[in-house]
Amino acid sequence: MNSQIKNAARDLAAADRVTALTGAGISVESGIPPFRGKGGLWEKIDPMEYAHIDAFMKDPAKVWQVLIREMKDVVDRARPNAAHQGLARLETMGILKTIITQNVDGLHQLAGNTDVIEFHGSFAWQRCMNCDGRIETRRVSLVDMPPKCLCGGILRPECVFFGEMISLDHMSRSRLAASSCDIMLVVGTSATVQPAAYMPIIAKRAGARIIEINSERTPLTRDVSDLFIEGKAGNIFDCLLMEIEKLR
Ligand code: NAD
Ligand code: ZN
Repeated sequence: MNSQIKNAARDLAAADRVTALTGAGISVESGIPPFRGKGGLWEKIDPMEYAHIDAFMKDPAKVWQVLIREMKDVVDRARPNAAHQGLARLETMGILKTIITQNVDGLHQLAGNTDVIEFHGSFAWQRCMNCDGRIETRRVSLVDMPPKCLCGGILRPECVFFGEMISLDHMSRSRLAASSCDIMLVVGTSATVQPAAYMPIIAKRAGARIIEINSERTPLTRDVSDLFIEGKAGNIFDCLLMEIEKLR
Protein backbone atom coordinates (compact mmCIF):
# COMPACT_ATOMS: atom_id res chain seq x y z
CA MET A 1 0.00 0.00 0.00
CA ASN A 2 1.14 3.50 -0.95
CA SER A 3 2.54 5.21 2.18
CA GLN A 4 0.82 8.47 1.21
CA ILE A 5 -2.54 6.68 1.44
CA LYS A 6 -1.62 5.33 4.89
CA ASN A 7 -0.68 8.83 6.08
CA ALA A 8 -3.87 10.33 4.66
CA ALA A 9 -5.96 7.59 6.31
CA ARG A 10 -4.32 8.29 9.68
CA ASP A 11 -5.02 12.04 9.40
CA LEU A 12 -8.61 11.56 8.22
CA ALA A 13 -9.48 8.94 10.85
CA ALA A 14 -8.60 11.47 13.55
CA ALA A 15 -10.48 14.40 11.96
CA ASP A 16 -14.08 15.52 12.33
CA ARG A 17 -14.22 18.76 10.34
CA VAL A 18 -13.13 17.85 6.83
CA THR A 19 -14.15 19.87 3.77
CA ALA A 20 -13.69 18.44 0.27
CA LEU A 21 -13.12 20.46 -2.89
CA THR A 22 -13.87 18.38 -5.97
CA GLY A 23 -13.47 18.93 -9.70
CA ALA A 24 -14.22 17.22 -12.98
CA GLY A 25 -11.56 14.52 -12.36
CA ILE A 26 -13.65 12.83 -9.65
CA SER A 27 -16.36 12.10 -12.24
CA VAL A 28 -14.07 10.80 -14.98
CA GLU A 29 -14.48 7.20 -13.78
CA SER A 30 -18.26 7.75 -14.02
CA GLY A 31 -17.83 8.41 -17.74
CA ILE A 32 -17.91 12.23 -17.73
CA PRO A 33 -14.87 13.69 -19.51
CA PRO A 34 -13.02 16.56 -17.78
CA PHE A 35 -12.32 19.86 -19.50
CA ARG A 36 -8.52 19.85 -19.13
CA GLY A 37 -5.94 17.07 -18.97
CA LYS A 38 -5.75 13.87 -21.00
CA GLY A 39 -8.96 13.02 -22.86
CA GLY A 40 -10.42 16.40 -21.84
CA LEU A 41 -13.11 18.15 -23.85
CA TRP A 42 -10.79 21.10 -24.50
CA GLU A 43 -8.67 18.86 -26.73
CA LYS A 44 -11.68 18.80 -29.07
CA ILE A 45 -13.29 22.23 -28.68
CA ASP A 46 -12.23 25.77 -27.76
CA PRO A 47 -13.70 26.78 -24.37
CA MET A 48 -14.10 30.42 -25.26
CA GLU A 49 -16.06 29.42 -28.34
CA TYR A 50 -18.57 27.33 -26.36
CA ALA A 51 -18.41 27.75 -22.59
CA HIS A 52 -18.32 31.54 -22.32
CA ILE A 53 -21.56 33.41 -21.63
CA ASP A 54 -20.87 35.72 -24.60
CA ALA A 55 -20.70 32.69 -26.90
CA PHE A 56 -24.02 31.41 -25.54
CA MET A 57 -25.74 34.80 -25.93
CA LYS A 58 -24.40 35.17 -29.48
CA ASP A 59 -25.41 31.73 -30.71
CA PRO A 60 -27.34 29.61 -28.17
CA ALA A 61 -28.21 26.96 -30.79
CA LYS A 62 -24.52 26.33 -31.49
CA VAL A 63 -23.62 25.99 -27.79
CA TRP A 64 -26.62 23.69 -27.21
CA GLN A 65 -25.75 21.61 -30.24
CA VAL A 66 -22.09 21.04 -29.35
CA LEU A 67 -21.58 21.44 -25.60
CA ILE A 68 -24.89 21.15 -23.74
CA ARG A 69 -26.28 18.26 -25.83
CA GLU A 70 -23.10 16.25 -25.20
CA MET A 71 -23.13 17.10 -21.46
CA LYS A 72 -26.79 16.07 -21.21
CA ASP A 73 -26.03 12.79 -22.89
CA VAL A 74 -23.18 11.82 -20.55
CA VAL A 75 -24.69 13.24 -17.34
CA ASP A 76 -28.01 11.40 -17.93
CA ARG A 77 -26.13 8.08 -17.97
CA ALA A 78 -23.53 8.73 -15.24
CA ARG A 79 -23.64 7.04 -11.83
CA PRO A 80 -21.50 7.77 -8.73
CA ASN A 81 -18.16 5.90 -8.62
CA ALA A 82 -16.02 4.68 -5.71
CA ALA A 83 -14.68 8.19 -5.04
CA HIS A 84 -18.17 9.75 -4.69
CA GLN A 85 -19.20 6.78 -2.54
CA GLY A 86 -16.06 7.16 -0.41
CA LEU A 87 -16.91 10.80 0.31
CA ALA A 88 -20.47 9.79 1.24
CA ARG A 89 -19.07 7.16 3.62
CA LEU A 90 -16.75 9.77 5.20
CA GLU A 91 -19.83 11.91 5.91
CA THR A 92 -21.65 8.97 7.55
CA MET A 93 -18.57 8.31 9.68
CA GLY A 94 -18.73 11.90 10.99
CA ILE A 95 -15.43 12.86 9.35
CA LEU A 96 -16.53 14.92 6.33
CA LYS A 97 -18.86 17.90 6.76
CA THR A 98 -19.10 19.79 3.48
CA ILE A 99 -18.28 19.26 -0.19
CA ILE A 100 -17.54 22.29 -2.35
CA THR A 101 -17.85 20.94 -5.89
CA GLN A 102 -17.04 22.60 -9.19
CA ASN A 103 -18.99 19.82 -10.87
CA VAL A 104 -22.50 20.33 -12.16
CA ASP A 105 -23.34 16.61 -12.53
CA GLY A 106 -25.18 16.04 -9.21
CA LEU A 107 -23.23 12.82 -8.48
CA HIS A 108 -22.27 13.76 -4.90
CA GLN A 109 -25.93 14.13 -3.92
CA LEU A 110 -26.75 10.88 -5.71
CA ALA A 111 -24.01 9.14 -3.68
CA GLY A 112 -25.65 10.42 -0.47
CA ASN A 113 -23.75 13.53 0.66
CA THR A 114 -26.11 16.04 2.24
CA ASP A 115 -24.05 19.24 2.45
CA VAL A 116 -22.92 19.93 -1.11
CA ILE A 117 -22.17 23.45 -2.34
CA GLU A 118 -22.53 23.47 -6.13
CA PHE A 119 -20.04 26.26 -6.71
CA HIS A 120 -20.68 26.41 -10.47
CA GLY A 121 -24.40 25.66 -10.24
CA SER A 122 -26.23 22.57 -11.42
CA PHE A 123 -26.84 20.93 -14.75
CA ALA A 124 -29.95 19.15 -13.43
CA TRP A 125 -32.18 22.13 -14.26
CA GLN A 126 -32.66 24.52 -17.18
CA ARG A 127 -34.01 28.04 -16.73
CA CYS A 128 -36.01 30.11 -19.22
CA MET A 129 -34.20 33.32 -20.08
CA ASN A 130 -37.55 35.05 -20.63
CA CYS A 131 -39.92 34.04 -17.77
CA ASP A 132 -37.42 32.44 -15.32
CA GLY A 133 -39.46 29.20 -15.38
CA ARG A 134 -37.48 26.00 -14.66
CA ILE A 135 -37.53 22.55 -16.22
CA GLU A 136 -35.53 19.44 -15.35
CA THR A 137 -32.77 18.86 -17.90
CA ARG A 138 -33.76 15.21 -18.40
CA ARG A 139 -37.23 16.37 -19.55
CA VAL A 140 -35.94 18.80 -22.17
CA SER A 141 -36.62 17.74 -25.76
CA LEU A 142 -33.67 18.10 -28.12
CA VAL A 143 -35.74 18.03 -31.30
CA ASP A 144 -35.50 21.79 -31.89
CA MET A 145 -32.30 23.76 -31.23
CA PRO A 146 -32.03 25.71 -29.02
CA PRO A 147 -34.67 24.12 -26.73
CA LYS A 148 -37.35 26.61 -25.65
CA CYS A 149 -39.76 27.13 -22.76
CA LEU A 150 -43.55 27.04 -23.34
CA CYS A 151 -43.43 30.87 -23.40
CA GLY A 152 -40.97 30.79 -26.32
CA GLY A 153 -37.93 31.90 -24.27
CA ILE A 154 -34.60 30.10 -24.73
CA LEU A 155 -33.55 27.59 -22.05
CA ARG A 156 -30.13 27.77 -20.43
CA PRO A 157 -28.51 25.44 -17.87
CA GLU A 158 -28.51 26.61 -14.26
CA CYS A 159 -24.73 26.52 -14.23
CA VAL A 160 -22.17 29.23 -14.40
CA PHE A 161 -20.63 29.94 -17.80
CA PHE A 162 -17.14 31.43 -18.01
CA GLY A 163 -17.60 35.20 -17.66
CA GLU A 164 -20.43 34.87 -15.12
CA MET A 165 -20.39 35.58 -11.38
CA ILE A 166 -20.41 32.90 -8.67
CA SER A 167 -23.51 33.31 -6.48
CA LEU A 168 -22.71 35.31 -3.34
CA ASP A 169 -24.36 32.66 -1.18
CA HIS A 170 -22.17 29.87 -2.64
CA MET A 171 -19.13 32.08 -2.27
CA SER A 172 -19.68 32.88 1.41
CA ARG A 173 -20.65 29.31 2.38
CA SER A 174 -17.56 27.98 0.59
CA ARG A 175 -15.26 30.47 2.28
CA LEU A 176 -16.69 29.44 5.65
CA ALA A 177 -16.30 25.72 4.89
CA ALA A 178 -12.71 26.33 3.76
CA SER A 179 -11.67 28.48 6.69
CA SER A 180 -13.21 26.26 9.39
CA CYS A 181 -11.97 22.78 8.38
CA ASP A 182 -9.09 20.83 9.93
CA ILE A 183 -8.36 19.02 6.64
CA MET A 184 -9.23 19.96 3.07
CA LEU A 185 -9.39 17.03 0.65
CA VAL A 186 -8.81 18.32 -2.88
CA VAL A 187 -9.90 15.73 -5.45
CA GLY A 188 -9.68 15.77 -9.26
CA THR A 189 -9.37 19.47 -9.87
CA SER A 190 -6.75 21.14 -12.06
CA ALA A 191 -6.96 24.07 -9.60
CA THR A 192 -6.86 26.58 -12.43
CA VAL A 193 -10.44 27.91 -12.43
CA GLN A 194 -10.83 30.88 -10.08
CA PRO A 195 -12.22 31.60 -7.54
CA ALA A 196 -12.70 27.86 -6.75
CA ALA A 197 -8.95 27.26 -6.89
CA TYR A 198 -8.51 29.79 -4.10
CA MET A 199 -10.40 27.66 -1.53
CA PRO A 200 -7.39 25.44 -0.63
CA ILE A 201 -5.34 28.63 -0.05
CA ILE A 202 -8.00 29.92 2.35
CA ALA A 203 -8.00 26.56 4.16
CA LYS A 204 -4.21 26.43 4.37
CA ARG A 205 -3.95 29.98 5.73
CA ALA A 206 -6.51 29.09 8.40
CA GLY A 207 -4.30 26.19 9.52
CA ALA A 208 -5.84 23.19 7.70
CA ARG A 209 -3.84 20.29 6.24
CA ILE A 210 -4.31 19.91 2.50
CA ILE A 211 -4.56 16.39 1.07
CA GLU A 212 -4.63 16.34 -2.73
CA ILE A 213 -5.71 13.42 -4.93
CA ASN A 214 -5.15 13.75 -8.69
CA SER A 215 -3.85 11.71 -11.60
CA GLU A 216 -1.44 14.56 -12.42
CA ARG A 217 0.42 17.25 -10.49
CA THR A 218 -1.33 20.64 -10.31
CA PRO A 219 -0.33 24.21 -9.36
CA LEU A 220 -1.22 23.28 -5.73
CA THR A 221 0.93 20.18 -5.51
CA ARG A 222 4.30 21.69 -4.67
CA ASP A 223 3.49 24.72 -2.53
CA VAL A 224 0.06 24.17 -1.03
CA SER A 225 -0.59 20.42 -0.62
CA ASP A 226 0.81 18.73 2.50
CA LEU A 227 0.16 15.31 1.00
CA PHE A 228 -0.21 14.44 -2.67
CA ILE A 229 -1.65 11.07 -3.70
CA GLU A 230 -1.16 10.45 -7.40
CA GLY A 231 -3.61 8.21 -9.24
CA LYS A 232 -7.22 7.62 -10.16
CA ALA A 233 -9.63 8.90 -7.53
CA GLY A 234 -11.81 5.75 -7.52
CA ASN A 235 -8.92 3.34 -6.78
CA ILE A 236 -7.45 5.68 -4.20
CA PHE A 237 -10.74 6.08 -2.31
CA ASP A 238 -11.19 2.28 -2.22
CA CYS A 239 -7.81 1.88 -0.48
CA LEU A 240 -8.25 4.99 1.67
CA LEU A 241 -11.62 3.89 3.04
CA MET A 242 -10.31 0.39 3.78
CA GLU A 243 -7.48 1.90 5.84
CA ILE A 244 -9.74 4.38 7.66
CA GLU A 245 -12.25 1.63 8.57
CA LYS A 246 -9.36 -0.33 10.16
CA LEU A 247 -8.37 2.65 12.30
CA ARG A 248 -11.86 3.56 13.59
P1 NAD B 1 -10.49 20.22 -15.06
O1 NAD B 1 -11.16 19.58 -16.23
O2 NAD B 1 -9.83 21.52 -15.24
O3 NAD B 1 -9.37 19.24 -14.47
C1 NAD B 1 -9.62 17.89 -14.24
C2 NAD B 1 -8.53 17.41 -13.29
O4 NAD B 1 -8.84 16.06 -12.92
C3 NAD B 1 -7.14 17.37 -13.91
O5 NAD B 1 -6.25 17.96 -12.99
C4 NAD B 1 -6.84 15.89 -14.10
O6 NAD B 1 -5.48 15.59 -13.89
C5 NAD B 1 -7.68 15.26 -13.01
N1 NAD B 1 -8.15 13.89 -13.27
C6 NAD B 1 -8.56 13.35 -14.44
N2 NAD B 1 -8.98 12.08 -14.27
C7 NAD B 1 -8.82 11.81 -12.93
C8 NAD B 1 -9.10 10.67 -12.14
N3 NAD B 1 -9.62 9.54 -12.65
N4 NAD B 1 -8.83 10.74 -10.81
C9 NAD B 1 -8.29 11.87 -10.27
N5 NAD B 1 -8.03 12.98 -10.99
C10 NAD B 1 -8.30 12.96 -12.30
O7 NAD B 1 -11.55 20.24 -13.93
P2 NAD B 1 -11.92 21.37 -12.89
O8 NAD B 1 -10.71 21.74 -12.13
O9 NAD B 1 -13.09 20.85 -12.18
O10 NAD B 1 -12.36 22.64 -13.76
C11 NAD B 1 -13.19 22.50 -14.90
C12 NAD B 1 -14.55 23.20 -14.83
O11 NAD B 1 -15.38 22.51 -15.74
C13 NAD B 1 -15.22 23.07 -13.52
O12 NAD B 1 -15.44 24.36 -13.12
C14 NAD B 1 -16.58 22.38 -13.78
O13 NAD B 1 -17.63 23.29 -13.53
C15 NAD B 1 -16.63 22.10 -15.23
N6 NAD B 1 -16.83 20.66 -15.56
C16 NAD B 1 -17.68 19.88 -14.82
C17 NAD B 1 -17.84 18.52 -15.13
C18 NAD B 1 -18.76 17.70 -14.28
O14 NAD B 1 -19.72 18.22 -13.72
N7 NAD B 1 -18.48 16.40 -14.11
C19 NAD B 1 -17.15 17.96 -16.19
C20 NAD B 1 -16.30 18.80 -16.96
C21 NAD B 1 -16.14 20.14 -16.61
ZN1 ZN C 1 -40.44 30.88 -20.27
